[in-house]
Amino acid sequence: MSLTKKIMIALLLGVIAGIGLTFAPQPIFTGLDNYLLGPIGQIFINLIMMLVVPLVFVSITLGTAGLGEPAKLGKMGIYTVVFFLITTAVAICIGFGVGYLLEPGKAGVFNTEAAEYEAQTAPPVMETLINIIPDNPIASMASGDMLQIIAFAIFIGIALAFLGEKTIGIYRLFEQANEILNWLVNLVMKTAPYGAFALIASAIGNAGLDALGSMAMYMVAVILGLIVHGALTYSLAIWGLGKTNPLKFYKAFFPAMSVAFSTSSSTATLPISMKTAQENLGVKKEISSFVQPLGATINMDGTAIMQAVATVFLSQVYANPLDFTDLLLVVLTATLASVGTAGVPGVGMIMLAMVLGQVGIPVEGIALVIGVDRLLDMLRTSLNITGDAAIAYIISENDEIKELKAEQS
Ligand code: ASP
Repeated sequence: MSLTKKIMIALLLGVIAGIGLTFAPQPIFTGLDNYLLGPIGQIFINLIMMLVVPLVFVSITLGTAGLGEPAKLGKMGIYTVVFFLITTAVAICIGFGVGYLLEPGKAGVFNTEAAEYEAQTAPPVMETLINIIPDNPIASMASGDMLQIIAFAIFIGIALAFLGEKTIGIYRLFEQANEILNWLVNLVMKTAPYGAFALIASAIGNAGLDALGSMAMYMVAVILGLIVHGALTYSLAIWGLGKTNPLKFYKAFFPAMSVAFSTSSSTATLPISMKTAQENLGVKKEISSFVQPLGATINMDGTAIMQAVATVFLSQVYANPLDFTDLLLVVLTATLASVGTAGVPGVGMIMLAMVLGQVGIPVEGIALVIGVDRLLDMLRTSLNITGDAAIAYIISENDEIKELKAEQS
């Protein structure tokens, strides 16, 4: 059986088991969750997380060295960031659209009196930008600071490209390290069905179904926004700019989407999403290894959609209408907020606090949405990594077309 099929079955069984577990007596669920599902899920996440930092470092270094001229990297960097910003802004507008269409904040009775939430602050954007250059690369790797690791790897890659023959030994070492890491990613991927099953059953069992109630409409709005962005924005981009049938793209990328769904972390999914993009979609290695790690950190369209819907939802709950300037402010803050925050579970809520603060909606409102956030986090993380892969794919396809043209002329 193919891995995709196995993962699909695991997802389905995980959902069924999770729903079944919501009916099980509490001690049975707690026992199963603490001693079976939780540990299996955590081991799976650790297995992939173990590969993230070395893989990003090695593959970006090799990618940069392979590109040869730094100018090409600069051009790709600009395309990537522009694509990221445009898709995120579109995502936020879609979030507004569904929020105003479905009016989830008017659909139920919400108790805002008891709402309590202690907001954590996201790092200021300026600080994030300055800190992209690490003062201590070893510390960046130890703490998994993706932007800093990317920057350091680019420097080493450029040096390798310039030094050529002189540093061929180190270049080969990186190539061999890359082989080892890819072999390990393959190995870890084989365990994905089991990890996904455990993570999903545990997440659904823990979330329970009673949290839904009056929040159902909010969830529907977020999910609808995610579907519209995936089915329209990405599909149109893949079709129009990547000259490919979007269904083919989604089918090929599905294994990575399902791992993102079960781990709720773009960063943890990185080794698998890079591998899937390179092997199943044929994205060039040097492009995938640059665009996808960057995207996992700064491009989160699914998260942006949730923030837009949540902001509209809470503005309705608190009867605090947003004017056009507020909406623009949300687009700006939500886009910038996503730049400095890493792709890990639940980070969207930290950013939401920042967005709400900007438009004067009580931050405690987050208490209402956080109850159902676990499940939405799974879905939006799948979309987050799909956006990164779609952009990597489009850039890679166009690069290939350009190369072919150059060869012909
Ligand atoms: N979990 C998301 C990610 O890793 C971020 C979020 O929306 O909380 O992409």
